[in-house]
Order: sequence, then structure tokens, then C-alpha cells
Amino acid sequence: MAEAARFGPVVPALIVDGRRESALRASPRRAAFYCGAVRSLAGDLAAKGAPLVVRRGPYASTARRLARELGAKAVVWSAGFDGAAQRADRDLQSVLEEGGFRAVAVADAPAVGLDESDAARSGGGSGYRSYPAYVQAWRALAQPPEAPPAALATVGVAGEALPEPAEFGSPEPPEPSAGAAAAQRTLDDFLAAPALHYAAARTVPSVAGTSRLGAHLSFGTIAARTIRRRLAARSADPFLLAEERWSLQSFGDALARRDFFLQLAWFSQSGDLPLQSKMRDFPFARSHRLLDAWLEGRTGYPLVDAGMRELRATGWMHPHVRLVAASFCCFDLGVDWRVGRDAWDRWLVEDDRAVATGNWQWVAGVGADLAAYPRIYNPQKQARRVDPSAAYVRTWIPELASLPAAEILDPPARAGRPQLMLPMFDGAAYPLPVVDHAAVASAFLQRYGEYARR
Ligand SMILES: Cc1cc2nc3c(=O)[nH]c(=O)nc-3n(C[C@H](O)[C@H](O)[C@H](O)COP(=O)(O)OP(=O)(O)OC[C@H]3O[C@@H](n4cnc5c(N)ncnc54)[C@H](O)[C@@H]3O)c2cc1C
Repeated sequence: MAEAARFGPVVPALIVDGRRESALRASPRRAAFYCGAVRSLAGDLAAKGAPLVVRRGPYASTARRLARELGAKAVVWSAGFDGAAQRADRDLQSVLEEGGFRAVAVADAPAVGLDESDAARSGGGSGYRSYPAYVQAWRALAQPPEAPPAALATVGVAGEALPEPAEFGSPEPPEPSAGAAAAQRTLDDFLAAPALHYAAARTVPSVAGTSRLGAHLSFGTIAARTIRRRLAARSADPFLLAEERWSLQSFGDALARRDFFLQLAWFSQSGDLPLQSKMRDFPFARSHRLLDAWLEGRTGYPLVDAGMRELRATGWMHPHVRLVAASFCCFDLGVDWRVGRDAWDRWLVEDDRAVATGNWQWVAGVGADLAAYPRIYNPQKQARRVDPSAAYVRTWIPELASLPAAEILDPPARAGRPQLMLPMFDGAAYPLPVVDHAAVASAFLQRYGEYARR
């Protein structure tokens, strides 16, 4: 909106188009979050005397029609980063320009602007392909001053009703904890204390201490720039301990990772294709007889299963567990990263295709990072490392809740307990591992090695 201020008072408008609709239809919790966020935005704007004008229809033609009704000079919008969003933005741009409007897409989703980070690179113009180099530049870039908010115009055009979850097939009510005020509170609460222990929380899933800002960031109810600015202010506290400072830096690096994947999608424009061109034909499977076991949290590897159950129950999975669960899909099952990504999309509240694709490609070893190789996580070793008391696993797998940690973390020890194979939870027993991780991982590596040497 700050960019729009250049053109005079702003009429805030929201277009619900087919792409938005299908993203919301995919995940009922996402639809509830989105509708809650829109409701909250409309309330904030109404309090300032400017209604939010809602329209439904094809993106470009609906925007042009509305601009005409308003007698607008310019249309300014927040640019998308994944391939489909970029195509839609280009279409919008040309339709508006043909209609005689100034059309300005503002790439304001990252904390550090694309131009700023790209300019920090010698031979800029194509962004960064390596996260370690990117994060170094990101940390060093100065924070630009906060832009003043745009003045709002009050107009007399008719808007449509605010979107409701039911229109996207969601039975949930609009999420009350969505919206800008809730996002600010989440950030305040996080920076007050949990941020000082973030370095541990980002790997230990039983510590509820990551920011939980992912969905807010993906819907823009808080700006990444705002978080970076607040983080800088928090980090200036002279009384911080060294490990607290380290935690704050790790949190900054997480924001930088988001920016990295956004700029990667922006500059590469490769959409769903692996960024490693040599990996484009790697024969990942599109299905597997055990895919449902992975999706339902019944692989017999408790950390993987707990993650999948957390995702299905809440719309979120702990960040480190995501790595282990995604690795299981790609390497233990040999299933294409796009199948895994799209499966998670049905439950995640976050709605960020570019970030999802970047992460899945990184795990699968087909992304742009210079160190592109399969990130194979041993699910049993990971469980022992990040959930040694099995507190996280117990939360999500009630079938295992009464067992000692040593047995939960060691499937061979569980094999001696026949009662686990009896129906104890929802009529289903908790299984022993459905694959032998060591065997399938080494078979995968052999296939990968042969393919890479071709
Ligand atoms: C296989 C896999 C799939 C993922 N899919 C998605 C997805 O579909 N949508 C999505 O928004 N995030 C995705 N992530 C990134 C990350 O796990 C989530 O953004 C994070 O879990 C959100 O929780 P949080 O806000 O508490 O994160 P925190 O740990 O508190 O991090 C703060 C913010 O930094 C950003 N961030 C942290 N880690 C990453 C990362 N690895 N990549 C990019 N940004 C990051 C997020 O915006 C996050 O909100 C995925 C990660 C993996 C490994």
C-alpha cells in the first residue's frame, strides 16, 4: 500500500479469482484462516472509513472493470512469486495497460527486496542460487526506513459479500486468530521470550517455541519487513546472553531462507521443474503401495508419523519434522517431491507455493543450491536426536503414549510387544516399520548415483 501512495488516495480491493479459490478449496483450515484474515482487514478498513471492495471473477478482467468503475489512474498490487502467480501478474499487467491504466506489481513479500539482495551480488540480475551466499548478503543489508501508510479513499462502488469458508467447501468458521492484530500479537509474544530459545525450538519439536508466523506471512497479515525490523530492535538489547543472540540470528536466518526461496522462484521461473536440469528426468515414482501409510501417519517410524498426524490435526507441522517426513516420502518411498508437496497442500494453512516448492526441491536434492544432493534423514536416528524423551511422539501417537521412550524410539524393541499389533486406537494397531530404512535408502542412493553418472 505504501507504493500505491505515490498515486494518491487508495481504494483497497480484493479479487477472489479461480486460483485463489482452488488454493482455498484444497485446505479447509486455509479457507478458514483466509476468510478470518479478510474479515479482520475489512473491519480495520471500515474503522478508518474505507470499505474493502470485494469482487469475484477472473483476475485481470475483474481488476480492469473495477478500475474503470472507480475512475482510477493506477492499479497497484502485491506480486506473486511462484510460476502461476507470475503468469497471472503478467496477464493482469498487460490487460490493465491495454486499458490505459498504470499497472504496478510490488514484489513486497520478502523482508529484503529483490533489487536490494540482487544488487549485493556481483553480476546481479539473476538472483542467488546458493543459500549460504544469500544469507551472508541478507544479514549485511541495511533495513530501509518504514514507509508511511497510504491515505485511504472513500468510494461509492458496490462491493460483494466478504468471502466465507463455506463457499470454498470448508465447514470451519472464519479463523478468529487470523488478521493483522493477531499477527502483531503473535510476533510480540514470540519476541518477548520464545525467540531467545529459538535455536533449540526449531529442531526440538516438543518445545513449542517457533514463531508460528508462517501462515500470517503467506497471507500478508504481517510483512516480513516488519518482522525483520522488530527483530533488529530486539537484537540491539545489550543484556542478551550469547545463546540468546544466537537464537535471534537463527530466527533471522529462517526469514532469510524464506526470502531465498522467493527470489529463487522469481528469478528462475522454473515453476514445477527441478532447478537442477540434470535431475529433470530422474525416475521418481508418482505413487507407492505405502503412500497411504505415509499420508495417514502409519509408517511405523514414530517421528514421521507424529509429524503427519500433527499436520492433519492442526494444519501445521514442526519445521524440523517436515524435513524428516519429506525425506521419507522422497527416499524411503522414492515418491516424487511434487506428490508429497501437493499432498501436504491439502492440510497446510500456509499458502506459499514458492516456499513449498523450494523446500521440497531442497530435500529431494533437485533444487538450485550448489550442494544439491538427496537429504536423506534416518527417521530413527532423528527421533533419538530431536525427541529423546518421545514427548512429541506421545502427543501425536496415542497408541505409543504408555510405552517407555526407549521402546518408542527403537522399533526392534517394540517388535517384542505383540499387544501393539492389537487394535488399540481407532480400531488400528500402531505398525512396525513398513520399510527397512537402511535398505531402501541405500537402494535409492545407488539409483541416484547411477543416474548422476549417466
Ligand atoms: C519439506 C518442507 C515443506 C515446507 N512447506 C512449506 C509451505 O508449504 N509453506 C510455507 O510457508 N513454509 C513451508 N516450509 C517452511 C517452514 O517449515 C514453515 O514456513 C515453518 O514451519 C512455519 O512455522 P513457523 O512460522 O513457526 O516457523 P519459524 O521457524 O518460526 O520461522 C519463521 C519464519 O521463517 C520462514 N521459514 C522458516 N523456515 C523456512 C524454510 N525452511 N523455508 C522457507 N521459509 C522458512 C517462515 O516464513 C517462518 O514463518 C516447508 C519446509 C519444509 C522442510
